[in-house]
Amino acid sequence: MNIAFTNGHPSAQPFAAAHYPGLAGKVVLNTGGASGIGRAMAQGFARHGARLMLLDLDVDALAATRAELKAAYPELEVETIRASVTDDVAVEQACVATEARFGRIDILLNNAGISMNKPSLELTPAEWRSALDIDLSGVFYTTQAAARRMVRQGGGVILSTASMWGLLSARNRLAYCAAKAGVVSLTKSLAVEWAEHNIRVNAVCPGYTRTALVDTLITTHALDDATLLERTPLRRLGTPDEMAEVALFLASDSAAFITGHALVSDGGWAADGF
Ligand code: NAD
Repeated sequence: MNIAFTNGHPSAQPFAAAHYPGLAGKVVLNTGGASGIGRAMAQGFARHGARLMLLDLDVDALAATRAELKAAYPELEVETIRASVTDDVAVEQACVATEARFGRIDILLNNAGISMNKPSLELTPAEWRSALDIDLSGVFYTTQAAARRMVRQGGGVILSTASMWGLLSARNRLAYCAAKAGVVSLTKSLAVEWAEHNIRVNAVCPGYTRTALVDTLITTHALDDATLLERTPLRRLGTPDEMAEVALFLASDSAAFITGHALVSDGGWAADGF
């Protein structure tokens, strides 16, 4: 049995990582794949024998993640590309490079994202644009470029990491909430529009998950660890591996009839009306 330990989080339980059908040999383009949730997804798809193109801004993290994957899975075909999802020309070039290397794009994982925690009265236009550019427009550029290939191929899977904040409201997170709600809306609209092309479009909506993004918010006191635990019914943060499991399921043949869905994995946060 393949046991995945959930990145050392003290209160998380080790779980038996499932094996999902239909992922072996698939070509996966994974934005934000160099760290956090995207990196855990890369590990999960590697475990399933998929072929990976990791796109990220952070070259050092890309190299480290690639080396880690190759050490764990020597047979793995994995390439990296430095690009920003905000640059539609670079995103198109990344799709061209993925096709040149692997011949196709079967699965797109939209993970690249930033947080934006600030009182709305103080949010500058530049900060608003930055969050919307990366967290929403970046998803659109990558999704459109990948889907053009998927239409030609006769199908594919698009999976975006939105957030529970795409479904709920929160103080001091206006740009992030608006961008993630946009990702949920894009997911549903495109699922309907592209169903005739056999393209499934879904979203994962994580609650607070222990990654560099959240660690930075805790360190800078934008978030309080104890308050998060108190507010979460399961009394812990999620782990990147747990989000990867959701992605593997949604991208696999086990979810063949699921499209236009935003799947929440948040330890019960959204269900608790408080
Ligand atoms: P992370 O900071 O660990 O990883 C994000 C990655 O995206 C980094 O490698 C970063 O270099 C990359 N990136 C940032 N801007 C980019 C750009 N313009 N182009 C290409 N790459 C870029 O963060 P994470 O926590 O793993 O977050 C991944 C996704 O999950 C994000 O979309 C985030 O909004 C979402 N999410 C995270 C949480 C959480 O609690 N960690 C909760 C809900 C949703």
